[in-house]
Amino acid sequence: AKVFKMAQRLNAPDGGSKKNSTVRVAVRLRPYMNRQDEKGEGPCVRGLDSQNLEIINWRNATETVKYHFDAFHGEQTSQQEVFLSSVKPILPHILNGQNASVFAYGPTGAGKTHTMLGTREQPGVIPRAVREVFNLVNAKDEDEGWDYRIGMSYLEIYNEKVLDLLSPSSQDLPIREDKDKNILIPGLTNTTISSFSDFDKHFVPATLNRTTASTKLNQRSSRSHAILLIKVVRTQRTVPHRQQTGKLYLVDLAGSEDNRRTGNQGIRLKESGAINLSLFALSKVVDALNSATAGRVPYRDSKLTRLLQDSLGGSAHSVMITNIAPEYKYYFDTFTALNFAAKSKLVVNKPFTRETVAVPVLPAKRPREEHEGGGSGSA
Ligand code: ADP
Ligand code: MG
Repeated sequence: AKVFKMAQRLNAPDGGSKKNSTVRVAVRLRPYMNRQDEKGEGPCVRGLDSQNLEIINWRNATETVKYHFDAFHGEQTSQQEVFLSSVKPILPHILNGQNASVFAYGPTGAGKTHTMLGTREQPGVIPRAVREVFNLVNAKDEDEGWDYRIGMSYLEIYNEKVLDLLSPSSQDLPIREDKDKNILIPGLTNTTISSFSDFDKHFVPATLNRTTASTKLNQRSSRSHAILLIKVVRTQRTVPHRQQTGKLYLVDLAGSEDNRRTGNQGIRLKESGAINLSLFALSKVVDALNSATAGRVPYRDSKLTRLLQDSLGGSAHSVMITNIAPEYKYYFDTFTALNFAAKSKLVVNKPFTRETVAVPVLPAKRPREEHEGGGSGSA
């Protein structure tokens, strides 16, 4: 095993500033796996404490480079701990008409899907967050005078195409912006859900569809961005029937590995181009948000950043969980991922509440399924 020695350069790229930022940058290191380390080299990255980790410096293997983040989750960290520290605190905001996003970033094999989805025994962020949203809504005091409706959409961005996973036969959907700068996808299925099991009923088959397709189409799940949207619309029971919409995006990003090194050809190469485009756009957006001078934020450079526009930077509570793996074969991808994450630390979000006045709500029957449109007050 390699010897770790602390490098002199302890300058974490985030500089430790921006303590008031509502963007939380967490790194999660998955457990070391023997089968991922054929040469038996041992791990090349390890945690130091709850905020710091170090990785061997490839220029000088006796040195390490140290990184500082809002949170570092070591290999022993449970799914529950990740949820409690990085996700649960932002959820109350979506009941107040604010937006939030949680995204898992990192190379294929580093634990993004484990973190977001998990297993039946070890459920990840998605099932835990959905349960918590229902808990929060159910705990609301009737006397506050709001009615809540929870809806879900589930989509995939694959080769720069937006595909509705709740309506698998649908074609590439357009992304639009309304006059209040809300991003919406006309035609995207938005299904009202009344409980966690109701959510599961719609989500599980859609996820299975995606997994089946992935084995057929060669790991499609690592080559597309899977995006779950939970929308909470609350409407005041009395005049003026104020209405607020809060959106929560839960995103399992495509693998961030450098596809040029894996010698992809044909369809794989086209996919790689789309992934590189969108993840590069994401890093540019993050950089633009980081820079002190308010320049143009290039949200329009990819479908992913366009979609996240109202939920990353400026108006939202965002959490990025960067997943990394400890084995040497991931070394350069880990380095890239850490540098991406360290930059993101500087994103500044200024949360504000979205509010519109709704047309008086008639106590009519509510459709179980509806489609998003450009209608008043919906986002
Ligand atoms: P990704 O979605 O980033 O490609 P996965 O979530 O599929 O990665 O994880 C790759 C493998 O590592 C899977 O077998 C998964 O079960 C395992 N794994 C990932 N993270 C953890 C963890 N924190 N604890 C235990 N096993 C993990
Ligand atoms: Mg995955």
